[in-house]
Amino acid sequence: MHYQTTFLIQLFFSADATWLSTNYGVIVCIECSGIHREMGVHISKIQSLTLDRIGTSQLLVARVMSNEGFNRVAEANCPEGARPGPSSSMEERKAFIRAKYEERRFVAPLCVSPREVLADLEQAIDSHNIFDLLQAASEAPAHGVDIADPLPSSVSARRCIIDDFFPSYVEVTVMDAQATSTGGVSE
Ligand SMILES: [Zn+2]
Repeated sequence: MHYQTTFLIQLFFSADATWLSTNYGVIVCIECSGIHREMGVHISKIQSLTLDRIGTSQLLVARVMSNEGFNRVAEANCPEGARPGPSSSMEERKAFIRAKYEERRFVAPLCVSPREVLADLEQAIDSHNIFDLLQAASEAPAHGVDIADPLPSSVSARRCIIDDFFPSYVEVTVMDAQATSTGGVSE
């Protein structure tokens, strides 16, 4: 067995859970892995910890995330008793997993606007907090936010501010560029 695999299985304390959803770095059992596969790779891409060679970045995400950390965000608003147990039927598991991963039904709604989602997203990136990042990304679809959208302080956003308040800045830059090009300086 691969050493990385051994590490991750030990992390989960169960030899049954040998499947990794690489989208979020969550480890699942074989029954749940089938349900994850049905949702499609855009929701959950399942790889085997024992049979597949998992990429380093995916292992790193799994290591930082952990199931417990993921569930703190993804099940924050999960009603008492809603979580399936060992005796739950396949249908009950399926309904829960789809609600949790596809609908993000149990995520606490912390943001009230797309602007707030983007601000939280940026803050999570700046503070290197994967759980805040997960929270913002989980709230994004409900607000019509794409996590690839420009962040509030991105270069293009800053340029808009500069253009609005300092229109001469652009002219100065152009003049400098012309002065340089006519000066015959080559590099
Ligand atoms: Zn399971």
